Amino acid sequence: MRDRSDSKRKSEIPSLTMAVFSERRRRRGVSKKKEEEMDETHNQKSFVISSNGCKKKKKKKKGHEGGKGKRYPLLSFWELPTYMKDNEYILKYYRANWSLKEALFSVFRWHNETLNVWTHLIGFFLFLGLTVANLMHVSHLEDLFGFFTGSLPSSSDANVSRTLKDFFLGTTIFIDLKHMTPLKMETSSAMDDLGTSKWPFFVFLGGSMFCLLSSSICHLFSCHSHPLNLFLLRIDYVGIVVMIITSFFPQIYYIFQCESHWQFVYLGGITAMGLFTIVTLLSPSHSTGKSRIFRALLFCSMGLFGIVPAFHAIVINWGNPRRNITLAYESAMALSYLTGTFFFVTRIPERWKPGWFDLAGHSHQIFHVLVVMGALAHYVATLVMLEWRNSIGCIS
Ligand SMILES: [Zn+2]
Repeated sequence: MRDRSDSKRKSEIPSLTMAVFSERRRRRGVSKKKEEEMDETHNQKSFVISSNGCKKKKKKKKGHEGGKGKRYPLLSFWELPTYMKDNEYILKYYRANWSLKEALFSVFRWHNETLNVWTHLIGFFLFLGLTVANLMHVSHLEDLFGFFTGSLPSSSDANVSRTLKDFFLGTTIFIDLKHMTPLKMETSSAMDDLGTSKWPFFVFLGGSMFCLLSSSICHLFSCHSHPLNLFLLRIDYVGIVVMIITSFFPQIYYIFQCESHWQFVYLGGITAMGLFTIVTLLSPSHSTGKSRIFRALLFCSMGLFGIVPAFHAIVINWGNPRRNITLAYESAMALSYLTGTFFFVTRIPERWKPGWFDLAGHSHQIFHVLVVMGALAHYVATLVMLEWRNSIGCIS
């Protein structure tokens, strides 16, 4: 409310000034034509002063009108349209009403969204690399390093003959452990494909990539216009929900692979919860900045749903030596997400020193980094689980 009255007052100032100037000129006997020329000059000066806050930029005016070389200055919080006023502790370097082209190229410009875009864009390319590497049967980190440096190690060589179809459609093989030699057991790894389906693993990778990419796009283009801003924010929320739902898929699928009714109960439950969350978030009343805490609570409650199958899994895998490794990675994931949510909600550290963290170090950037770290921890836990399930199959 206060912002609106301030901006109204500001917009009235130039017109009042213009009226006073016109009256003075009339008294001095200045001709109508001359008066129009003077008004035009005044308009140009007013524009330059209000948009850039500096008279020296006057020469740039010509480019602004001509379209070519159009200037898109960065704005302060108080100059923003109301729909963009979200974080009052970030004071400067905002983009508003930029063309799509200018917004796209602003990925290489410094503004207060630059690191928000890059933190998730790097995360997206990281997960894309992991997906490609896994599709090419490169499972271990050293194999991944070899993949990027061009030297594929021998552990993946043994598997290159398997087809992509086998990879996705493989079904559980009931492995007779008695007939497995010790050497075979040692060398079996997540990608020594003994038959376990890989699709839940790739559903998780796909969900993570969708979330990270939609977030980057949202942060890059939401400065374009109010309708696009609303649309992209909703896509961003949907991306977060998709990432949470798909994160459950591999864990529940592999843990309860031999008890399909539990797979159905847990995966059905989290999917229903996710759909409910998406419908709720897409309603206009929950898309605004004011519902930030409500949204955070919804996302957290979806994540906390995982406690139920997690306890169940601990009980049925009590004697499993890999239980503690998986638990450690999943705990790291939960800690990353919860800490990220804490920064997201509290807007620390910028609320302590408004204006200090406009470009780097504000809460949303910290939240983004913690989301990527949490997803990576979950990725490692998923690999451990896949490797375990792949090595034992279903023993009944
Ligand atoms: Zn974000």
